[in-house]
Amino acid sequence: MSDIPWPAPPSGICTVPPSLEVEVAILGAGIHGAALARELTLRGVSCALVDRGAVGGGTSQWSSQLLHGGIRYLLTGDIRQMREGLVERATWARIAPHRCRWEAFWMPHRFGVEGLAHRFGIGLYDHWGAERPGWPQGLELGQVPRTAFRADPRSAGGPFRGATAYADLITWDRALTRDLAASSRAVPLDFHEPEHFEEGQEGLKALTLTDRRDGTRRRLSARRWVFALGPWTDGAMSTWFGETRKRLRLSSGIHLWFDPVPGCASPWAIRRPGGRILFIIPRDGLLQVGTTEREVEEGWVPIATGEREELLGALEANLPAIPWRQLPIRGEEVGVRPLLSAGGATARLSRGAMLQRHDRLPNLTLVLGGKLTTARLLMAQLATELTGLPCEASVTEPLSLWDGHPAQIR
Ligand SMILES: Cc1cc2nc3c(=O)[nH]c(=O)nc-3n(C[C@H](O)[C@H](O)[C@H](O)COP(=O)(O)OP(=O)(O)OC[C@H]3O[C@@H](n4cnc5c(N)ncnc54)[C@H](O)[C@@H]3O)c2cc1C
Repeated sequence: MSDIPWPAPPSGICTVPPSLEVEVAILGAGIHGAALARELTLRGVSCALVDRGAVGGGTSQWSSQLLHGGIRYLLTGDIRQMREGLVERATWARIAPHRCRWEAFWMPHRFGVEGLAHRFGIGLYDHWGAERPGWPQGLELGQVPRTAFRADPRSAGGPFRGATAYADLITWDRALTRDLAASSRAVPLDFHEPEHFEEGQEGLKALTLTDRRDGTRRRLSARRWVFALGPWTDGAMSTWFGETRKRLRLSSGIHLWFDPVPGCASPWAIRRPGGRILFIIPRDGLLQVGTTEREVEEGWVPIATGEREELLGALEANLPAIPWRQLPIRGEEVGVRPLLSAGGATARLSRGAMLQRHDRLPNLTLVLGGKLTTARLLMAQLATELTGLPCEASVTEPLSLWDGHPAQIR
């Protein structure tokens, strides 16, 4: 696996007994693993949530933090995925109102025909996404008034003549993941290193783990196993079972966090070549800008100079009135998207997900690909499949707040 060291564990002790048995063992406590833990708890089924690091300490803390239908799918034509995301967006607004905020995103256009096309596409997007629980009064959608557009410093001296506003939901990804875990009664085994699997006739039987805090060994047995290891899936399957098969393609994306720019009050989503979107989102007292797309081999990668340069270049080309290179960068982060393996550029690859039953170990399911937005839905399907128990409360039961505080500034 990667040479970049896994984040160090915190001090403190884990009180979980040295040997335990659960119905379902979940490896990987990102949004998928945490959502599955909640689904199993809602069905009254025992589980353990294992992670080598912290809950929500992987890709699920480096996303663009949007719970969305995916406005870019209007361009790629993936309408099914878009409509699924729009339904899920409303579910998140219902079950996690304290971790979500509705926003009117401005999509600027360069000339009249493009503006007309945006209004048509965005009209459909907002029509299909008309279910918006908690939508704040006064947040306007549709054509942005010319005076409001001109008053935004991003419109000055650039290629854009106007904008159309569409609805989407922003979130706090790591806090949302932790809320999902806190809404479960999963046995918490964070900062535990999986060491050795025991196999039986049914497939996987038990796993020996080392607590990275103090070296304590624990043995976890389960009837069913789910690996939700995000971009580390292929590396782990190779280390643990000697598998060479690649199930995923990995693509890194970076975000830069600038000081706020006066007058930049609405989030912007600018269409870029290759089906990509450049986001400029005022949030948490800063301006979040992203994202890029670079195919990589590992779940941990450093930011490449070219990536930072590409983002700054795109900002300068599209929003030239703002002196981007003179603004201090307050934070930068890189995340690695796990994408379903297929040919072609990663920017064009589906952000969809699949559940894969392991061919040699029949009680093991792998979660591959996916998004924050659809993680609850996919894990509800998996929990129903594993237990035979559907659960309507999944779409209505509010999440607990892991820290007792709504929203989070980072
Ligand atoms: C730049 C970027 C922007 C994105 N923007 C959005 C967005 O706006 N909206 C959206 O819906 N989606 C977005 N995504 C996608 C989304 O973030 C991911 O699909 C999602 O977070 C993946 O969650 P996961 O649970 O599958 O993986 P992860 O969150 O990576 O969880 C996997 C977990 O497995 C653990 N692990 C790894 N190896 C081991 C091991 N050997 N033993 C034990 N544990 C292990 C890791 O520590 C980690 O916690 C974005 C992704 C990126 C990279």
